[in-house]
Amino acid sequence: MALIVQKYGGTSVGSIERIKVVAERIHRTRDEGNSVVVVLSAMSGETNRLAGLAAELSENPEGREYDVIVSSGEQISIGLLSLALRERGCEAMSFLGHQVPILTDTSYSSARIEFIDTGKITRELDDGTVVVVAGFQGVDTLGNITTLGRGGSDTTAVALAAALNADLCEIYTDVEGVYTTDPNICSNARKLERVSYDEMLEMASLGAKVLQTRSVEFSKKYDIPVMVRSSFTDTVGTLVCKEDSEMEKVVVSGITYNKGEAKISVLQVQDSPGIAARLFKPLTEAGINVDMIVQNIGHDGTTDMTFTVNRPDYSKAFKLIEEMKDDLGAKGVEGDTGIAKVSIVGAGMKSHAGIASKTFEVLAEEGINIQMISTSEIKISCVVDEKYTELAVRVLHDAFELGSDEVVEE
Ligand code: ASP
Ligand code: MG
Repeated sequence: MALIVQKYGGTSVGSIERIKVVAERIHRTRDEGNSVVVVLSAMSGETNRLAGLAAELSENPEGREYDVIVSSGEQISIGLLSLALRERGCEAMSFLGHQVPILTDTSYSSARIEFIDTGKITRELDDGTVVVVAGFQGVDTLGNITTLGRGGSDTTAVALAAALNADLCEIYTDVEGVYTTDPNICSNARKLERVSYDEMLEMASLGAKVLQTRSVEFSKKYDIPVMVRSSFTDTVGTLVCKEDSEMEKVVVSGITYNKGEAKISVLQVQDSPGIAARLFKPLTEAGINVDMIVQNIGHDGTTDMTFTVNRPDYSKAFKLIEEMKDDLGAKGVEGDTGIAKVSIVGAGMKSHAGIASKTFEVLAEEGINIQMISTSEIKISCVVDEKYTELAVRVLHDAFELGSDEVVEE
């Protein structure tokens, strides 16, 4: 008998019909002799609808009440699913974050899970009851409701799997797994059988939206293998797990892209100690995340600094830099929101040379200008003009022979 955590995303519980289908799968899993903990998202579109309501009332709604509002979608989905299970004759009980409790810090909208009390869950599981937990939400030590950031139910699921020492954590979604690239761009994109935690971490943070990045950090930290699969089919999905020697043989596992960033250049700032610190400190204080940074050495004692931020932060970041311009002795500030980051990821890059030069050659052959480059042990990212995103993804996917012969069906 195994303990399995199954998480179902919004589309998987998007209608009463879908909820019945999911209930059948859960019932079957339990009847095969397993203990089952289910984590749910809100029904698809619901969290956006709730966030929209809050936005109608306030320009900056994030905070305590915002979390009270946006966490409510999960209350409905867990209640409905538990009811559906009971109607089938499968004992089930729903739990909100504070009922478990799932304890977090007080960073509203991006709270971190600190502790999960598994006592109540374990007691119900011992009775053969399916435990249905609301994803995305927790409670702080003062009893305030918190949420974990968009897509946070993935993190709830992995954290619960870790706390319960589960045998398996399955993430059910509307795609069949993790692909070599976006099948909407490359029709021959191939589903990966396995990816390492580190590869998945890069892919998730680079824009592949299957898993919340923080959930992957969690699964890596506690070594919880995660199976990403579809709730619409019975096909085996992609296993995200610890790297082994087989994985390093595959040089490139996937190509991802992210159109969610923007670029800011500060022109001809003094090339002296402390400039970067002064430049980036106000951004940090404003809670703005800086991703790539490139500094060029000039010859007249000045230097150009270029960096990227998330697009929603662009205007705020640009304004802050503009305000500092004179202070820094900079000649000007330029911005560009029409960029995309295209990245290649693979555990095997650690032990294979020549991947970067091949990437640059392939892009050059298509006349695609690379504006910025950043690398890690297992990733190369290039910032290009947004209009070349699809072309860049396609030529790199081909060049590294990632496609399968079969065409993915929509
Ligand atoms: N319902 C939340 C959201 O839409 C959490 C999740 O789906 O994981 O972001
Ligand atoms: Mg999701």
